[in-house]
Amino acid sequence: MKEIILLKLGELVLKGLNRHNFEEQLMSNARRRLKLYGDFKVYSKQSITYVEPKNEECDMDRAFEAMRKTFGANHVCRCFPCEKDKDAMLSGIQNFLREELAAAGTFKVECKRSDKTFPLNSIQLAQYLGGELDERYPHLTAEMHHPDLTVYVEVRDTAAYIHGTPVPGAGGLPVGMAGRAVSLLSGGIDSPVASWMMAKRGLELEMVHFFSYPYTSQEAKEKVLELARLLTPWTGRLTVHVVPFTAIQEELRRSCPEELFTILMRRFMMRISAEVAKRCGAGALVTGESLGQVASQTMTAMECTGAVTDLPIFRPVVGMDKDEIVRIARYIGTFETSILPYEDCCTVFTPKHPRLKPTVEECLRAEEGLDVEGLVKAAADGIERVHIPVKRED
Ligand code: ATP
Ligand code: MG
Repeated sequence: MKEIILLKLGELVLKGLNRHNFEEQLMSNARRRLKLYGDFKVYSKQSITYVEPKNEECDMDRAFEAMRKTFGANHVCRCFPCEKDKDAMLSGIQNFLREELAAAGTFKVECKRSDKTFPLNSIQLAQYLGGELDERYPHLTAEMHHPDLTVYVEVRDTAAYIHGTPVPGAGGLPVGMAGRAVSLLSGGIDSPVASWMMAKRGLELEMVHFFSYPYTSQEAKEKVLELARLLTPWTGRLTVHVVPFTAIQEELRRSCPEELFTILMRRFMMRISAEVAKRCGAGALVTGESLGQVASQTMTAMECTGAVTDLPIFRPVVGMDKDEIVRIARYIGTFETSILPYEDCCTVFTPKHPRLKPTVEECLRAEEGLDVEGLVKAAADGIERVHIPVKRED
């Protein structure tokens, strides 16, 4: 009999049609991720998604890790199958949950019987298994309300399944459920975290990176592609739209007031990202801006950058301190790559004294002599698309 994986769904408040979409999206995302690890059957029943290996070749360890990173599941656990015999279940529990039983002080057994032909009902089975465990482990006390360990036994048609307390899953909503957005990915710490946070809310992401060759190096671009690759176990496969940005930066440096350089550059980033969104059917932009972190992220600066597009701009780290962002970056595995010392296009031609409170009017005035539309179109037409498949679990 084969071990299986259970995904317990999150967002319990979701009801009706939404719940169905939620489950369908979660199953489809899970199936796609699991392809890397063998042939699996995935289906949902009563708010639980079941992942069953179809043969012995399936890599269950990696499949489990992949499921822990799949948004939509609140809890995940591995389940041990055994014969539908109460004593086989007892020894199954003792073997499969050996460490958990040794570590716990209090416990309870919870049974569910979907196979109604099984001779004991759920309560009788729980009483039997609980009684036996109580006798065999003198250090354990039965405790119904807040036990250290809950032993779950599910008697199904095919087998009885045993598992302990499920581990936390990635939570959130299944990627794709909330639609599609364009995320501005620099080589820094913040934008990978922002992307992860919005993928967690169910957004499928298209990544945009502004590349200023030769001012920024090939290594800087590789670093951004690597960040995207590190995000894929959470986001699913990604496309990075690498935008040639040098011409726009040179044009701005030539023709605009130096203290507005960064804010004008960021307005172009937003316009080009909005154009990418239009071309790939995305409905929002995502950035890693955090209020007050630098001159281009003050409130008025955000007004100036937001003024060039009607799309909603999601800035999930806007209210976070750097150390809070770093904590997530470490957790999702992007931090070490983010701190590699390659320059970003934002650091090219940085003004010595950037305007802290720019206004939309002065931005518009500074842009008067520019062929804004032409520059945006040329940059968007020059995009190189790099497809990043989902990274395998190590
Ligand atoms: P990060 O750690 O994300 O680089 P940061 O503090 O360095 O953030 P900025 O460089 O001012 O902030 O950029 C703010 C946001 O603008 C980034 O989080 C990102 O969303 C976007 N951005 C900046 N540079 C680029 C770039 N070269 N390509 C794509 N997006 C960018
Ligand atoms: Mg940056």
